[in-house]
Amino acid sequence: MLPDLDWSAFRRVLIVVAHPDDAEYGLSCAVDMWTRAGVEVGYLLLTHGEAGIRHLDPAETGPLRAEEQRQACACVGVTDLTLLDHPDGQLMDSLELRRDIARHIRQFRPDTVITANFDLEAYGSYNQADHRVAGLMTVDAVRDADNPWIHRDLDLPAHKAQRLLVANAGDATHRVTVDEKAVEAGIESLSRHKVYFEALPDHPAPADFIPMMLEQPDGAQAVHFRVFDPI
Ligand SMILES: [Zn+2]
Repeated sequence: MLPDLDWSAFRRVLIVVAHPDDAEYGLSCAVDMWTRAGVEVGYLLLTHGEAGIRHLDPAETGPLRAEEQRQACACVGVTDLTLLDHPDGQLMDSLELRRDIARHIRQFRPDTVITANFDLEAYGSYNQADHRVAGLMTVDAVRDADNPWIHRDLDLPAHKAQRLLVANAGDATHRVTVDEKAVEAGIESLSRHKVYFEALPDHPAPADFIPMMLEQPDGAQAVHFRVFDPI
């Protein structure tokens, strides 16, 4: 069983993921615990998820998914949401993407940066291409943000985050135990991706899926993280 993560020093947390809904697979339950304790949490999404609904034109899907994400954030006490315009399904390892993430880190100045699992294999299959890129670019951008000689054109002071967490990592080192209220908020936040899920009829219902995902051998409910502290 994984040890509980001591998050008492968390003040400002920045979550960086590829798509609307990526932060709602358990992670948002931990976010609810943190925001209720007064931690500032911001979300940075690298795309609008516009290629995510097969029957709908990306021009319609992008704004729709951004709105669903805003509602999902509100369920767990998050109002600070930024969506970038990188192309959904086609994220590339690039200096441009690293610079965009580093810019946001230097502006938001988090003590803790969190991204999601970017292993080759994840969630019972091969991980999605954007997830692999988003995680790796976030790790690199955390380092970039702290180096005053990189991305000098941003004209923003360097910022050093204290720690990096990878949510739902296959090689997790810690867990964040969540209470019943957080589980409910997490289910609610995932459910807000309503139109997206309507297009995926085989997707299990959030109310079934989230508690299953959080279940621990000792009966507790928790989110798993790989923790790099210091980075
Ligand atoms: Zn995704």
